[in-house]
Amino acid sequence: MKGEVKANVGGVVHVSTVDWRGKVAHVIFLRSCPLRCLYCQNYKILEGKNYVPLKELMRGVRDAKFLVDAVVFSGGEPLMQFAAVSELARLVREEGLLVAVQTNGFYPERLEKLLKEKLLDKVFIDVKAPLDDGSYERITGVKGVAARVRASLEVLRRENADFEAVTTVFRGLVAEAEVKKIASQLRSIFGSCTYVIQQGRPELAMDERLRREKAFSRDEILELAKMAASENLKVKIRTKEHGEEVLSFKL
Ligand code: SF4
Repeated sequence: MKGEVKANVGGVVHVSTVDWRGKVAHVIFLRSCPLRCLYCQNYKILEGKNYVPLKELMRGVRDAKFLVDAVVFSGGEPLMQFAAVSELARLVREEGLLVAVQTNGFYPERLEKLLKEKLLDKVFIDVKAPLDDGSYERITGVKGVAARVRASLEVLRRENADFEAVTTVFRGLVAEAEVKKIASQLRSIFGSCTYVIQQGRPELAMDERLRREKAFSRDEILELAKMAASENLKVKIRTKEHGEEVLSFKL
């Protein structure tokens, strides 16, 4: 029964202007994730329990409804709680709001199901590393992730989904060589797509050793963006100092 389903919730941001550029969103963070990325900033919600009935979450959505355009499911990995997210997406739709998901791409079949059921208006998908050189395993601590992410990207292509691919850059972990490969792999899958290069925040990283690193500066990220744009991608960058910026390069 609808009223009895619960979601394991890490937090709610009632009104956000930074999670979906151009939209005002109500953001629900769902706990738990199959990955353990070294630079995870949300590691405090990777575990733990805080089960909230969907009807209570929907009360929050309705309260925010007159201020927001959309509900964004984030995490953790929201598709890990597939039953709750599917049901919530359906209920949010009934309220006339848009739905987006921020996913790490670990669940291609679940993503496909939501897209086929027309429950997603936007997908923000992490492409954390090149898909073919083993670095995915090093960053996420889990085997076989790259193949799943590739399958999710194929789903997005087949379903003609509105999506953005997001890479978090981190000195010594995901830098020039990795961004170059990822951009080229995105080009070979999609021809072109929107690609967001996001500044990793060492001070917030799960792995203590990474906290000693220096974040890439905006200028350094601009150089990475220029390189990605040469692969025919529409590039955006996201930094702490300037937020999200859409770039256009004359190449
Ligand atoms: S996929 Fe996201 S939430 Fe999960 S561990 Fe990695 S950075 Fe954290």
